[in-house]
Parts: sequence; C-alpha cells; structure tokens
Amino acid sequence: MVNMWTQAIDPDFCFWTNLAVRKIISNGVYLGMAISNRFKVTEPGTGKTAPRPKDEWIIVPDAHVPLVSESDFKKAQLILPKKKYNGEPAHIFGSKVRCPACGHAMTRYTRQNPRFKCGTAKYTDHYGCREHSVLQSDLEKTVLASIKAYAAAAVDREELMLAALSRGESEKAELAERIRTEENAVRLLEESVAKNFTALVSGKLTRDAFVSKKRVITATVTQKNAELKALRERLHDITVGKENIELGIAELRPMLTIDGLSRELVDMMIDKILVHGENDVEIVWAARFAADLGT
Ligand SMILES: [Zn+2]
Repeated sequence: MVNMWTQAIDPDFCFWTNLAVRKIISNGVYLGMAISNRFKVTEPGTGKTAPRPKDEWIIVPDAHVPLVSESDFKKAQLILPKKKYNGEPAHIFGSKVRCPACGHAMTRYTRQNPRFKCGTAKYTDHYGCREHSVLQSDLEKTVLASIKAYAAAAVDREELMLAALSRGESEKAELAERIRTEENAVRLLEESVAKNFTALVSGKLTRDAFVSKKRVITATVTQKNAELKALRERLHDITVGKENIELGIAELRPMLTIDGLSRELVDMMIDKILVHGENDVEIVWAARFAADLGT
C-alpha cells in the first residue's frame, strides 16, 4: 500500500490522495524501471536535496516486475493534466501548520489572502478532521505575539536566575580564597616530605619515623586534593552558569521588539502549529526552546 503522506498520526491507516495517484501514474518505477540519480545534494551534511533534470536520471528498464502495464501507463500520460505540479509554494510556515486530528500539514490555498485548511477530510473521515480554516495573516499575528510573549517570559526568568547568581558573587570570591589557602597547604605538605627525606638521609630521622610521617602527610594531601576538586567545580559552575544565562538573554532580547516573522525565526523556534479552530491555535516550540520554558 502506498501512503504518500508523512508524519501521519496513525501510520497503519493509509488513504489515496490526488498527489499519491499522480505520482504513481507518472513514475516509470511502476512500469518496472529502476531509476536513480533523480536528486542531487544541495547542502552536504544537511540532507537537503533538489531534483535533477530528467536527462540526468539513470534509468534501467525491466529491472523488476511491472505493477502497471505499458499501455495503461501511456493512457494515463494522455489524460494527466499538462500543468506541472510544483508542490507547495514557499512561505514562512513551510509545512509547520498542522491539523491536530490527522497530523498532516494543512493545505495552503493561495488566493490574495491565503488560508490553511486540512485537506485530509475530502479523502477520509478516519481521523475526524474538521473543516475549519485559518487565514495566514491571522496565524502570523498570533505566532508573532506568542514569540514575543515567550521571549518576554524567558528573559524575565533568565534575569531572575542571573540575579540569584550575582548574589553568589561574594561566594565566588570566598571560593577563590579557600582554593588559594588549600593549594598553599598542599604545597607546604609536599615540601615537608622532601625535608623529612633530607632528615632521614642525614640520620636525624629514623626510617620508621619517616614512613609514619609520610603516611600521615600522604593521607592529608589526598583529602585536601579532593576538597580542592569540589571547590574548583563549584567555582566553575557559578562562572559558566552566568555566562550561559547572559548568552541566552542576548539571544532572546532581540525577539522582544521584532515587528514581523521570518522563515528562519519560525524554523528556529517552532516545531509545529496545531490549528484546533479558527481562533484556537497551539504552538509547539522547538525542543531547545521547550526545554528553556521547562515544559
Ligand atoms: Zn486533518
């Protein structure tokens, strides 16, 4: 069974769409051909591709058992509309506007004032998709307002955390002082081992006395090094935590004053936009930002 849709809520349920049928009756693979080299990589490492012109395709006829006879295929080519299907025109929301019932990207009807509507209902009532539609201009206003509100809340929260860390500034100075004291103590202990060794060699210290002193000193140094490690980690956390928050605020602050959406901004911040009703839109933030909100 062929299901041309992706990200369906129920992957076991398939249905035919105009696009799925069109792809089959215009694709030589169903005639038994093997076709490769149809796409080229446009940005290596990103998985982004673009179609190649047909004369660059590598076509191997009779590579497998055909599903469609050649005469049926030729008849289909005659009745296929001549207009090329170019897919959805590019717009700032891409395929992020989705129907919450079936999970599919809503179809964008391009007239002077484009609107989004779920196209699944005309093929199946399996998901109980609703017929409502939403204007792109309304959606843009809602999303812009949500991004600003999100940024304002996030900046407030980060500034509170920054203030808490700034109150830790005195702790930072205290930690640095304790680290210096402990480092000095360790150095003195290590020096005393060398002095005891000199005393042992010159006969001022017995071997037993040297060994027992050394054991005590080694144990103390080990303990002090463990304390030092903990102190340095705490100091590092305070310093780095503050830098990260400052970076986060610097990234969020420009969003407080944006006056329009861009494809980049929508791509970066939003995973999907679920249209429950004409005036009921749910924004699902991209994972990084959702984590930011603690949701
Ligand atoms: Zn739907």
